[in-house]
Amino acid sequence: MEKKSIKKKDIFVSEEEKTIDWSQIQDSLEKNFGTEVYSSWLKNIELLKEFNDHLVLGVPTRFFRDWIVSRYLDKILKLLKTFKMSLNRVEFKISEDNKSNINSSNSKNIEFNKITEIKDSILNYNRLNPNLNFDNFIEGTSNKIALSSSKKICEQLSRYNPLYIYGGVGLGKTHLLNAIGLELQEKNNVMFISAERFMYHFIKSIKKNDMVNFKDFFRKSSVFIIDDIQFIRGKEGLQEEFFHTFNSLIEKSSQIIISSDRAPMKLDRVQDRIKSRLSGGLTVDIEIPDLELKTEIIRKRILDVQSQFKENFKVSEEVINYIASESKTNIRELIGVLNRVITYSRIHKKELNVNDCKNVLKDVFNQTKVITVDKIQNTVSNFFNISLNEMLSQRRSRPLARPRQIAMYLAKKMTTRSLPEIGRRFANRDHTTVIHAVKTISKLSENDDEMKKNIVQIKAMLLEE
Ligand code: ADP
Ligand code: MG
Repeated sequence: MEKKSIKKKDIFVSEEEKTIDWSQIQDSLEKNFGTEVYSSWLKNIELLKEFNDHLVLGVPTRFFRDWIVSRYLDKILKLLKTFKMSLNRVEFKISEDNKSNINSSNSKNIEFNKITEIKDSILNYNRLNPNLNFDNFIEGTSNKIALSSSKKICEQLSRYNPLYIYGGVGLGKTHLLNAIGLELQEKNNVMFISAERFMYHFIKSIKKNDMVNFKDFFRKSSVFIIDDIQFIRGKEGLQEEFFHTFNSLIEKSSQIIISSDRAPMKLDRVQDRIKSRLSGGLTVDIEIPDLELKTEIIRKRILDVQSQFKENFKVSEEVINYIASESKTNIRELIGVLNRVITYSRIHKKELNVNDCKNVLKDVFNQTKVITVDKIQNTVSNFFNISLNEMLSQRRSRPLARPRQIAMYLAKKMTTRSLPEIGRRFANRDHTTVIHAVKTISKLSENDDEMKKNIVQIKAMLLEE
């Protein structure tokens, strides 16, 4: 033990001062990361040396090291600190390097080489979508500033650097980034990539031992657009690489444009120095669209499809309003919903009314709650403490007739079944019986407090289940 601690005596921890019990840490790693991650990655880490402020850990390959660094290092370090406060970093040593016969047929290496042979060049993923441009981005109160800032960047590069656009899912961030790329690509070397793909290439280059090319490739762009930067949260190795890429781009005055689902300072598990870089230019947000913007997007989309298919199908004002007000927050969802309605309407060659729309869209808007006539019948009979058979029977005594009518009324209000269909489900009654029930209960639920209360309660039960 004396032999080992001769060098760097001041910081190297001698045998008797060692406090780290690696098997204990391994247990804790397994507990914290789960068995799968542990057994595929972390189990392979061994403790080589312990210092006061850091540990030297051994890993089998370079790939292992980089994978662990980019995904788990943060958490590992935190965990290590709970065992030994004074630790503030870890160093990795690659055991493969120490082996004399590097060319030995290590099965892992063979596998990695195979993976890297799959040809998907970075360029394949740098495509801009010609359909996401400024012309078809509709301006509204919620995106006005983001849109005008994006356009300004295109007129004068490096005016704000970086431009950082953030907002919730499906609000148009990628669309704007793409539009900027399209606008600038003619005169500039534009790189457009999502943070996730950036990570993918990063890992791949590590595997191929080709970091030089990776760095060159990304750093030579004059416009660097990176989408969904929140992806780097908690990934130390990736942040490190991104930070260097960012700095060298700024140094040569390349324009950087970034999108994220949250403001720079809200990016938890991202290094402070990166957060401050990200907020060093202009930060703008996209808010939730208002009714006006949603309506306009719908109208524009209908016109587009009409001209695309050279068809003059119609979507009524009522339906436009319905879709705009039902779809709450997300433009992607809004467009998805509209596409369904349009497709349905084209296939069936008919103009849809609001009821048809409800039908077409029931699983979109009621994703979690599908209320059926059966369910209503069961809930109502339970509520009034009568049997289902009694409720569906032909008997007309009020204690049975009222619940029956309430169930019919709710079936009409809460499902998309037609009156005749509902009648059939109630022991083959005529649709006029259903109409009568709906009218009766509608009126009662306005004037009769008891009825009002019952209806509210039953509805709540149906929606809750
Ligand atoms: P994000 O990247 O913010 O999640 P996207 O840019 O992918 O959202 O937008 C989702 C969908 O909504 C895309 O089809 C996009 O074209 C469309 N979209 C969003 N905002 C607008 C807008 N203002 N005008 C037209 N289409 C929009
Ligand atoms: Mg996006």
